[in-house]
Amino acid sequence: MISPKIQDALNAQINAEFWSAYLYLSMGMHFEAEGHKGIANWFRIQFKEEQAHAEIFMNYLLSRGGHVELKPIEAVPTSWTSPLAAYQDTLAHEEKVTALINSLYALAIEENDYATRGKLDWFISEQVEEEETARDLIDRLKLIGDNGLALYMLDQELASRTYNVPAPLATAK
Ligand code: MG
Repeated sequence: MISPKIQDALNAQINAEFWSAYLYLSMGMHFEAEGHKGIANWFRIQFKEEQAHAEIFMNYLLSRGGHVELKPIEAVPTSWTSPLAAYQDTLAHEEKVTALINSLYALAIEENDYATRGKLDWFISEQVEEEETARDLIDRLKLIGDNGLALYMLDQELASRTYNVPAPLATAK
């Protein structure tokens, strides 16, 4: 059985993952409407990944005999001044998610919950990757500046991103 504190923290994390999903879906919708179809594709895939993160936590909570509580998802921004602004928001948001995962890990240590610590290991590595990817795209967009052709080429590149089911979900059950 899982401790009530860990259960509450996992439910909060599930909500945070759905909020992330909603944020990236909103970015996808915005950039699709703006004609940046590749960037929109990148964010639509990010949306799916975040949904998968929520699902991993939901499956885990259920496997521990816990109770999943789906809470309201707060409103997200709906427009950005540029792709650079969106990726800067992405990085800032991912840094917040990293802090949440770290707090969850600290709580699992405090509660002597070794299984939860183990489950969080994948997320800790995943957050390093998320931040690195956002930082990389910010750097590239800064280099691109107002060069339309360079932005078009990046958009084409991001159009080829495809969705891969995250490992903990692909191997589950
Ligand atoms: Mg996530």
